[in-house]
Amino acid sequence: MTKLINQTHASNDLLIFDNLESEVRSYCRSFPTKFIRSSGYQLWDVEGKVYIDFFAGAGALNYGHNHPEMKKKLIQYLTEDGISHSLDMATVAKEIFLTKFRDIILKPRELNYKIMFPGPTGTNSVESALKLARKVTGRQTIMSFTNAFHGMTLGSLSVTGNKFKRLGAGVPLNHSVSMPYDGYMGKDVNSLSFIESFLNDSGSGISLPAAVIVETLQGEGGINIASNEWLIGLAKLCKHYEILLIVDDVQMGCGRTGSFFSFERTGIIPDIVCLSKSIGGYGLPMAITLMKPELDLWEPGEHNGTFRGNNLAFVTAAQALDYWENSRFTEEIEAKGEMIRNALSEIVISVPELNGEVRGLGMMQGIAFENNIAQKISALAFKRGLIVETSGTDSEVIKIMPPLTIDHIGLAAGLRILSDCIYDIAVENNALVSKL
Ligand SMILES: *Cc1c(COP(=O)(O)O)cnc(C)c1O
Repeated sequence: MTKLINQTHASNDLLIFDNLESEVRSYCRSFPTKFIRSSGYQLWDVEGKVYIDFFAGAGALNYGHNHPEMKKKLIQYLTEDGISHSLDMATVAKEIFLTKFRDIILKPRELNYKIMFPGPTGTNSVESALKLARKVTGRQTIMSFTNAFHGMTLGSLSVTGNKFKRLGAGVPLNHSVSMPYDGYMGKDVNSLSFIESFLNDSGSGISLPAAVIVETLQGEGGINIASNEWLIGLAKLCKHYEILLIVDDVQMGCGRTGSFFSFERTGIIPDIVCLSKSIGGYGLPMAITLMKPELDLWEPGEHNGTFRGNNLAFVTAAQALDYWENSRFTEEIEAKGEMIRNALSEIVISVPELNGEVRGLGMMQGIAFENNIAQKISALAFKRGLIVETSGTDSEVIKIMPPLTIDHIGLAAGLRILSDCIYDIAVENNALVSKL
């Protein structure tokens, strides 16, 4: 690290970013420092201050920063002049990825999908899924859910809930219909019967959708979890009305909730699955879209993209799949998830005045607060060396999302900083604290 710092600008001014870079940037406002190095669950800034990462690149760094095995494979590949860019041409790196994905992920789960490389981002995968669903069914409408997040291009925005992000489109977002997610209408209301009444009724004003797109757990939308029953019911509804079911597993996939796919807890088999973020393993851009073979009605070149063949990502993606060769990693994630659960529950109980609500599953959990508490926590945590983001329409949820590979010491240390911050903010808010 010392070496890196000496080689570069050690000063921590942010002048070039403030002066030259667009106002559109956002995360750097929550974490205003200049980062230089990272390893595992830790980041360092140019002043040598260390941060514990409870953000994990918004889910792109499930295996941590600069994973040693992936780095080794990557360096070896680069040194040997391996193919870097290949559009959709066949390469050895892609062959290894496809073979491992089939043998380690698909076969043991008895999943029969064809794999499409839609371009390197999550929204590329979502766009390809929406296009394919419309092409296959000949219908136009896509049903999506309240508080959904599917990406920032027009098609993905049209199925995204957030008003601010939708307004950014600058044009009407249509051919989509938003329905209440599980729990949206209150804990005792089953929104599925509401949805079914729309599908059933020729007077509902809603034409039969081509597809339903759903996240099994809404990360960006505020850590809202759909119950197994609700997801199974949704899959049944789709089957009954011959609507394609798309699961957007861009953030919840690759083990975030425990299993490789987030829908494994339900037993449902989506028609189309979107994966990105951590599929590349090393934080390198990569996305795939899985589709049932009978849906693969694409004409060659009908969906295209220059950066569909990021072979450096294929190399690290293939290496990352080793984590999934047995159930050990899932058990590890579940154990850490439990540790997070206990810590968050303890916090919420200790400061009842803040009215916190623990949400989530696996290593995607958080606490929903009222007012702007979550943003205050994030800001204070940053000062104390913890990177933790907020989510939800009004940034009302503090979102705990460490690399899945974080060790117990790192996890405990991060949770300690988090709880101290929350207690201190509670005190600041004149709340009575029954500190444990
Ligand atoms: C991040 C995300 C996307 C968009 O991915 P990008 O790579 O940012 O385009 C889509 N869906 C979900 C659920 C996401 O979390």
